[in-house]
Amino acid sequence: MTPSPKGTPDPAVRAPNLAPRSPLSRGGRGAWAFDLDNTLYPARCKLFAQVEVRIRDYVAGFLGLDSAAAYRLQKVYFREHGTTLQGMMRHHGMEPGPFLAYVHDIDLSAVPPDPVLDQALGRLEGRKIIFTNGSAEHARKVMERIGVARHFEAVFDIAAAGYVPKPEPRVYDAFVRRHGLDPTATVMVEDIARNLVPAAAIGMTTVWVRESETQPESGLDPPDRATLAAIDHVVDDLALWLSDLTREEAT
Ligand SMILES: [Mg+2]
Repeated sequence: MTPSPKGTPDPAVRAPNLAPRSPLSRGGRGAWAFDLDNTLYPARCKLFAQVEVRIRDYVAGFLGLDSAAAYRLQKVYFREHGTTLQGMMRHHGMEPGPFLAYVHDIDLSAVPPDPVLDQALGRLEGRKIIFTNGSAEHARKVMERIGVARHFEAVFDIAAAGYVPKPEPRVYDAFVRRHGLDPTATVMVEDIARNLVPAAAIGMTTVWVRESETQPESGLDPPDRATLAAIDHVVDDLALWLSDLTREEAT
């Protein structure tokens, strides 16, 4: 596991940590799989907090629970099933469509345009695909807001995954098949550490954007040893990290 490369311009600092066939060391000629929420924009925007409140409210209305009980159940399903949606579908027969439309109906003004990320993605070689547990419509709106939509060839969303969320290993296989990826030439970037474990298991290089898991409301325990062992790079600021990476490659 590497320390954050932020503020450490010496490439030697992280060179020993590169996986032998890492696309990072081959000029990024493979593919990049980016998670969306709390990855392409910083968790401090609190955008996902709005989604979480709407998930709670939808669960409360659907099951006739008060807010506190709905929130507890939401977090139990998130931990046990990867998403609250999956828990609600399995245990309560809930339809995914209306739920997804409701929970993603949020105010995006909390997310600022990110020209630094836009420029870095423009310099970054390789195919770029969004791999999210949210909906494709939400992903497109957020990418438009950040100003980076043009860099991504596709969104593999929760519907494409048959509503089975990361970190279910079969979803990673489906993602790789759908987009014809070579996992050993693919980098996966994600804010939830446990979602990187199946990626590493099929040979992907992994990048953990760790900010959101340091927030107490994440509902996640700190990554354990096995999870940390699946992480190749730890990043605090994705835009700056990609900027550093692509500048080095250009020189
Ligand atoms: Mg995320």
